[in-house]
Amino acid sequence: MRPETEAELAEMIRAAQAPLAVRGGGTRGQQGAGAVLETAGLSGVRLYEPGALTLVAAAGTPVAEVADLLAAEGQRLAFEVPDLRRVLGREGLSTLGGVVAENASGPRRVQVGACRDFLLGVRFVDGRGGVIRNGGRVMKNVTGYDLVKLMAGSRGSLGVLTEVALKVLPVPEDCATLEIPGLADGQAVAALSAALGSPYEVTGAAHLPGQGTYLRLEGFSESVRYRAGRLAHLLAPFGAVSEVPSPWEAIRDVTAFAGQAGDVWRLSVVPSEAPGLVARLGAEAVIYDWGGGLIWALMAPGEDLRARLGAFRGHATRLRGAAGLAALPPEPAPLAALTRGLRAQFDPRGIFAAATA
Ligand SMILES: Cc1cc2nc3c(=O)[nH]c(=O)nc-3n(C[C@H](O)[C@H](O)[C@H](O)COP(=O)(O)OP(=O)(O)OC[C@H]3O[C@@H](n4cnc5c(N)ncnc54)[C@H](O)[C@@H]3O)c2cc1C
Repeated sequence: MRPETEAELAEMIRAAQAPLAVRGGGTRGQQGAGAVLETAGLSGVRLYEPGALTLVAAAGTPVAEVADLLAAEGQRLAFEVPDLRRVLGREGLSTLGGVVAENASGPRRVQVGACRDFLLGVRFVDGRGGVIRNGGRVMKNVTGYDLVKLMAGSRGSLGVLTEVALKVLPVPEDCATLEIPGLADGQAVAALSAALGSPYEVTGAAHLPGQGTYLRLEGFSESVRYRAGRLAHLLAPFGAVSEVPSPWEAIRDVTAFAGQAGDVWRLSVVPSEAPGLVARLGAEAVIYDWGGGLIWALMAPGEDLRARLGAFRGHATRLRGAAGLAALPPEPAPLAALTRGLRAQFDPRGIFAAATA
């Protein structure tokens, strides 16, 4: 199914008798059961006001198209959408709706927040075939704020997004990356925490074991130079600090695991606990991002990372691996009750029941 308009989509959902699997660009690599409902026909930028830092586009619009349009005006999506196609072994073009549905957010999240923090408004069709419009085009408009936030990360389980309004940001004048080589994981997370706790507005804080610990600064040139100097001074007790070419695209896209055999997991953890968890993981390789709050782990195929770690503060999602283990972590009971309530409200007939990841 490939609706060309929102009205056509609403009609298809009203007529549906069995679950549908919503697909944007299909780059996530997993597909729930059910008839595929593609959003590619709902495409195109509807409004772009660079002066107001606002963009409204149909949900099936490729992210790359939006990025090109913004770049021509010296602007960008602040939440640094990861391109996981290589690591997931997928082709296709990520869509804006797919990115919002996953709340996809890259290394800059430590400073500016996630995709949901830039979402001004949404339009979507719920499981009854009703069109819901929520939010506005300006950050100040808080009408239905919660519904906008709810759709970010809903993974197609509450409705099909047809349009999203986003706040965009100017591309900064300058960017610098500082590296401290050779730190053990514990020291590295301490260095990242020190940098994130400083007033120097770090926009990237990652550690690649065996390689280096990285910090990013962005902004006006003069300010970046000043802050880089101050940050290097602050971090001097951890080791030699030098400026290096940007590793952020590779960190964002987890390219170190692309083409490597094994399962890929993504853990959301408490940064200070990250080195201890990694020590228990027995992973073949790991990447620390978000100051240690996000760990990407390459595990032996079929290894149940959740069983190995037992209870910990955080959660683990499996991004790549053979069928058998659930991709998403089980929800704690109170959250599961909330999810059930929401789905009963937006999708009483279970049309989006196939949404799994
Ligand atoms: C298990 C998993 C977890 C991921 N987690 C993250 C993450 O935490 N952070 C991150 O940066 N990237 C994450 N990604 C990558 C992210 O999925 C992609 O960057 C982006 O979502 C792909 O867009 P797409 O158009 O190809 O979406 P698809 O791969 O087609 O779909 C992605 C999800 O969004 C839903 N969806 C797609 N379009 C719509 C729509 N219009 N309305 C409603 N739902 C829709 C789908 O049903 C599906 O659940 C993850 C990928 C996987 C496989």
